[in-house]
Amino acid sequence: MKNEMISHIGIAVRNLEDGITRYALLTGNQKPFITEVPDQKVKVAMFSPGDENNSGSRIELLAPTSSESPIAKFLDKRGEGLHHICIYVDDIEKKLEELKKSGAKLIDKTPRIGAEGNKVAFIHPTSSNGVLVELEQWRSHS
Ligand code: ZN
Repeated sequence: MKNEMISHIGIAVRNLEDGITRYALLTGNQKPFITEVPDQKVKVAMFSPGDENNSGSRIELLAPTSSESPIAKFLDKRGEGLHHICIYVDDIEKKLEELKKSGAKLIDKTPRIGAEGNKVAFIHPTSSNGVLVELEQWRSHS
C-alpha cells in the first residue's frame, strides 16, 4: 500500500502554458511531466514534489484540447479552479464494487488508464459530498 492518501489535486486551467509558469513558481518544480489524455481531450501537466515523476502528492493542471472535453465544459460552467482530488486505493476493482454496493454513483464503472499509466476511475460528486473524486491504484513496481 502506498503510504499516502492523496495522489494529486486536479486544477482546471484555460491555458496550460500560463498555468505551468504559475505552478512552476509556486511548487519550485520547473519540469512538470506533460502528457495528453486523448479520450478525455485534455493536456495535463503534473507537478511532483521531487525529481522523480509520479512520486509524492502532486498537482495536476488540466487544459482542454477541444470544446468537447469535459474540462472545457467545466471551465464554461465554473471557470478555472479546483476540479478533483485523487485518492489512492489498493485494489480499484474491489473499491468500485464496494462503492456500487453502497449505492454510490460512479462515473467510471470500470477503471481506465489515467495520465500516468495507472488504473483510475471517477466517482460522481453527488456521492462524495460535492467533490469530484478520482480513485487511483498505484501500480506495483515489483
Ligand atoms: Zn487526476
